[in-house]
Amino acid sequence: MLEGQCLCGRVKYRYEGEIEKTIICYCKDCQMAQGSIFGWNSPLQKSEFEITHGIKFLKEYFHTPNKARVFCQECGSPIYSYRVDVPDIIRLRLGTVTQGHLPVPSEQAYIQYKPDFLHIDE
Ligand SMILES: [Zn+2]
Ligand SMILES: [Zn+2]
Repeated sequence: MLEGQCLCGRVKYRYEGEIEKTIICYCKDCQMAQGSIFGWNSPLQKSEFEITHGIKFLKEYFHTPNKARVFCQECGSPIYSYRVDVPDIIRLRLGTVTQGHLPVPSEQAYIQYKPDFLHIDE
């Protein structure tokens, strides 16, 4: 089980399953969306994910027509994304997790955008 929240705490969520793999993505979209070096995400079953507080604070942003980026419109924390054509799977933004086990990343994508000073074992 996993729990998490946005920065301001208005949005809280729970995931009943276990996180099996985590992914780091250095693509420019992830860097801009997170305001940082990479996005750290995990694909989850939406059926086991529940927003327990503050669903009214969530807003969806479509940078591309097929992908919704869902964030807290009060504090701006990215919470998850999903593809419109794969609605059963969400990609949770793992920096928002407050409780539960997060495995070491098993995949790093778009490493051509990874800064040289950062060293993460594959
Ligand atoms: Zn918030
Ligand atoms: Zn990315």
